[in-house]
Amino acid sequence: MRKVSVECRRVGLSYDRGKTEVLSDINLRIEPGEFFALLGPSGSGKSTLLRLIAGFNRHQRGELLVDGKDVSHVEPSARNIGMVFQSYALWPHMRVWDNVAFGLVERRMDKAAIREKVGAALEMVGLSAYAERRPNQLSGGQQQRVALARTLVIEPQVLLLDEPLSNLDKKLRVQMRSELLSLQRKLGVTTVFVTHDQEEAMTTADRMAVMDKGVVQQVGTPVALFDYPSNPFVAGFVGTTNLLTGEIEKTGDTLRFRTPGIGELAMPTHPSARPGRMAISFRPHTVRIVIGDAVRDGAYVWVNGVVEHTEFLGEFTRYQVRVGESLLTADQPHYCGLAPLPPAVQVRLGIDASQIRFLPL
Ligand code: ADP
Repeated sequence: MRKVSVECRRVGLSYDRGKTEVLSDINLRIEPGEFFALLGPSGSGKSTLLRLIAGFNRHQRGELLVDGKDVSHVEPSARNIGMVFQSYALWPHMRVWDNVAFGLVERRMDKAAIREKVGAALEMVGLSAYAERRPNQLSGGQQQRVALARTLVIEPQVLLLDEPLSNLDKKLRVQMRSELLSLQRKLGVTTVFVTHDQEEAMTTADRMAVMDKGVVQQVGTPVALFDYPSNPFVAGFVGTTNLLTGEIEKTGDTLRFRTPGIGELAMPTHPSARPGRMAISFRPHTVRIVIGDAVRDGAYVWVNGVVEHTEFLGEFTRYQVRVGESLLTADQPHYCGLAPLPPAVQVRLGIDASQIRFLPL
């Protein structure tokens, strides 16, 4: 299969004759063969953007290109794009076989070719033995595979998935996401996948776009977005983080960060830190938690606090620690025999200075 790119250039979409802007100035390029996630909270415009690529929604501004050609005015059925809906949208009265064959029958393909393609599609998703069943005789995961087979059988150039795993229980979701990814890798079909679940996006996507309020906040690989978020929204949405806002003052190699509720924190300066109002972000696992005054490692920014809440999660323990008027989160890896600290214990938190990110407000 020839792999194609999908590109949005300054795409804007509004409802109510321009009164409700749902997508603003979307610029995105999804590379041929990429597994690309649209990640954002509910109402951020992800589904609207996906439906726009499919042709079910029309944008008023900008261009949508597939394989370099503007398809803004091409009908959905002529776009050669396959979409799997969150609800699967299977025909309940039809057998699995007929559900999968549906798109090919509609295209008036000859019977022998249909038989071959449906057989191959069912085999691809591991459901050859279920061809005679009806959707209500299948588990959620199997229904999801039928929906996928039905979409892939038409050999779309672009595969669109709208929250494909959200109806499955946690264990099946984890299993299906790796199945989905290996299928995508095998077929090489450019895939755009909508999710509000950052773990799902991070574990599967080659790259992802984080959306909020109809705007693409940042695009990049999961690791790049996690390590170098470009604003506080992305820092908080991709992974868990501590965010503090304050004023920066630079003197030589050191920097003073004055944050209400905690006071002044001294830390090494950083090229992205500018004098004035900024936010700092640091991940809970980059914060050490110690009792007593013994440790004085200069690579860390030390603050005093009191444990307010302890959550034992198995691999690690998550602490909410009161520091002045702020609550900071610190994760500590857990080992056998290490008892989690109870609330009210006085601790010192060491924030790894190399892991602090400075973000514009
Ligand atoms: P997401 O998929 O990120 O949850 P959606 O794309 O479904 O978000 O919706 C984005 C915004 O567009 C929401 O605020 C929603 O209320 C609004 N919206 C969606 N469809 C319509 C419509 N037909 N008319 C008006 N507003 C709509």
